[in-house]
Amino acid sequence: MHQPQDGSTHRSSASQADPAAQAASDAAPGAKVRTTIVNLIPPFTLAAVVAFWGFAPDAWVEAPYTLVIVAVAIMAWIQGLEFLFERHEGWRINRREFATDVFYTVLMYTVVGWTATKIADEPLMALKERLGIATPWLMELPFVVQALMVIMLVEFGQYWMHRLMHNVYPLWLTHAPHHHVTQLNALKGAVGNPIELVLISLSVVALFDFSLAAIFCAINMGGVISGFAHANVRSNPPLFYSFLFTTIRHHSLHHTALSYEDTRCNYGNSIIVFDRIFGTYRDGESAIVGQDDRRRLSIYEQFMFPFQPVIDRFKAGRDEGGKDKSTPSAG
Ligand SMILES: [Zn+2]
Ligand SMILES: [Zn+2]
Repeated sequence: MHQPQDGSTHRSSASQADPAAQAASDAAPGAKVRTTIVNLIPPFTLAAVVAFWGFAPDAWVEAPYTLVIVAVAIMAWIQGLEFLFERHEGWRINRREFATDVFYTVLMYTVVGWTATKIADEPLMALKERLGIATPWLMELPFVVQALMVIMLVEFGQYWMHRLMHNVYPLWLTHAPHHHVTQLNALKGAVGNPIELVLISLSVVALFDFSLAAIFCAINMGGVISGFAHANVRSNPPLFYSFLFTTIRHHSLHHTALSYEDTRCNYGNSIIVFDRIFGTYRDGESAIVGQDDRRRLSIYEQFMFPFQPVIDRFKAGRDEGGKDKSTPSAG
């Protein structure tokens, strides 16, 4: 079957010349400047988000919709960049993909967010109160340090939850729908079975006394990093960013269609340094993404996926029982 030239997974090594880098160095100086600027878009976006929350007046921080407005602005910005700086033609957004992505994004900010608050944040806050846990000194730390601590704390839990999902079968059944996406786009990070989305949203941040601005900043930072890590944008941020934060190169390899085994790397949703520390980091990227011969799932199939083996077994048992009664010789 025909596949685009950059379709297969390729890994760069120190001894091998990177074709993309070679092409960039051969290009005219204008093109090189352009490539550099495009590569710097994710770090600049991240810096803009940190600056926004760092300088936002208290009234903005406390207003109920500021977090959502910034989150939507980030998503619109990254989705818009897909039209200007497309990475792969095969990942080009269309109406069906966009409608699905928007459905899951709304689900994430409503049902999933509400559920995670009810089953994690609120019980943890009650526990914190009962045990008299107080960490007011955290609020005295510089704003950027607090925001980084929050994102590291959230991502540390997500890293292990995600890794567990790739190693424990019932958990994999909840996570597999996210791997059934057949193209990557700005909002694809929100696409998955709702059980998985809740599990991945759990964190222990509610046990600590960080400033509200730092918590919101960390949430929006995650939106920027994971947004770009799923987006069809040809930004390849420099090492000062990609050493710590997950990029589309890392995450597309995690989504590779090559084989299931090949997806078992680069678990960090936004913080790739955990993979570097815990030995699951792999360099490279993949343009062809998906699971099980790249079968795209409908929203209904994504919702039913974890229960499908049980349903199938029940159906098989029923059919078997029916056969026993009516057509005993059939085989
Ligand atoms: Zn995964
Ligand atoms: Zn993903």
